[in-house]
Amino acid sequence: MPAGAATGASEVAPGLLRIESVMGSRRLAQWLVVGDDGALLLDTGIAGTVVDRIVPALAEVGLATEAVRDVIVSHADVDHYGGDAEARRLLPAARLGAHELDRPLIESWATIAAERYGWYRGYGLDYEPETWQWLADAAGAEAALDGTVEDGDVIDLGRIAVRVLHLPGHSLGHLGLFEPTSRTAIIADAAMADGFVDVGGERVSPPPYVDLGRYRETIERLRSLAPARIGTTHFPPIEGDEVEAFLDRCLGFTRELDRALDEALGDAPQGLPALLAACAERVGGYREMELELSRSLGAHLAARVEARAVERVELDGLPAWRRR
Ligand SMILES: [Zn+2]
Repeated sequence: MPAGAATGASEVAPGLLRIESVMGSRRLAQWLVVGDDGALLLDTGIAGTVVDRIVPALAEVGLATEAVRDVIVSHADVDHYGGDAEARRLLPAARLGAHELDRPLIESWATIAAERYGWYRGYGLDYEPETWQWLADAAGAEAALDGTVEDGDVIDLGRIAVRVLHLPGHSLGHLGLFEPTSRTAIIADAAMADGFVDVGGERVSPPPYVDLGRYRETIERLRSLAPARIGTTHFPPIEGDEVEAFLDRCLGFTRELDRALDEALGDAPQGLPALLAACAERVGGYREMELELSRSLGAHLAARVEARAVERVELDGLPAWRRR
C-alpha cells in the first residue's frame, strides 16, 4: 500500500462517510450518507467493491446492510456502477437509481461499450485489448436500476438530507449530492482538475468530458454553491481554500486544451489521432489512458464546429478537422 492512501471508512463531516480503496494506481471512493432513518450510498465501485469494501465498511460503522435504502449511481463508468449487481444482492432494501440520460449505459454493457467506450472507434482510435478486458471485468454483472433521480430531488434520511445535483459534462447524466449543513458537495467525477492523480498525488490520466459547455457550467455551478469541501471519487478530500483552487484548475485545464487545439489545428485537415498526439504533448502528457484526452478534444471540436470556427471534413474515410 503506497503511503498516503487511507483505506476503509472515514467520516469527513457529520453523517458523511468516505469509503476508500485503491484501484490500480488511483484512489477509488464511494460515499455513504447516514441518517437516523437509513443510509444512502453514492456509487458501487467496480465489480467486487461492494463485497470487499462497502459491506465491511457498513459493519465497521455498525450499520446493517438493510439500513441502505438508496443507492445512487453518479454516472455511467464501470468504476462507479460495477458493483450494482452485488448491491442488488447484498443491500436488499436499497432502491437503485441514476439520471435518466446515463441509465441505459449503466444497465447494459453492450450500450456503454458501443456509446462510451467504443466512441473512439469512429475516429480511428481504440483502447488496447487488455483495457477492454479490464473494463468488461470491472463492469460486473448487468443489473437493472429501480428508477431515475434528477436535479433538485431531496433525499431525507432523518437528521440529514441531501439534494441531488445534475452535473453534466464528464457524462451527460452525471449526478452529485449537496449536504447543506456541512456545505459538502459530493461530485464523483463531475470536475477532474487537469487529470486524475495516483495515490502519491502525481497526475496520471486525462480528464475526459463529452460536452465542453456543460462541463464549464458544472464547474461554475459548483463554485456558486460555495462548498466548504468537495468529495470526489479519485482525489483526496478537497477542503476550504483548496475548493476554489481545485475548481480554478478544472476550468484552467479547459482553456489550456483550447490553446493546445489552437496551435494544433491548421488549414490541412487532421484526424483525431493526430490532434490527440499534438495536444497531449502540449498539455504535458499522461502515462495512463491518454486516449481519453481525445474524448475531451472531441467536445472542444464539436463546440468549434457549432461556432463555425472549424470545419469537419473527411480524411481517409474518418472524420477530420481544419480551421475555417
Ligand atoms: Zn471514475
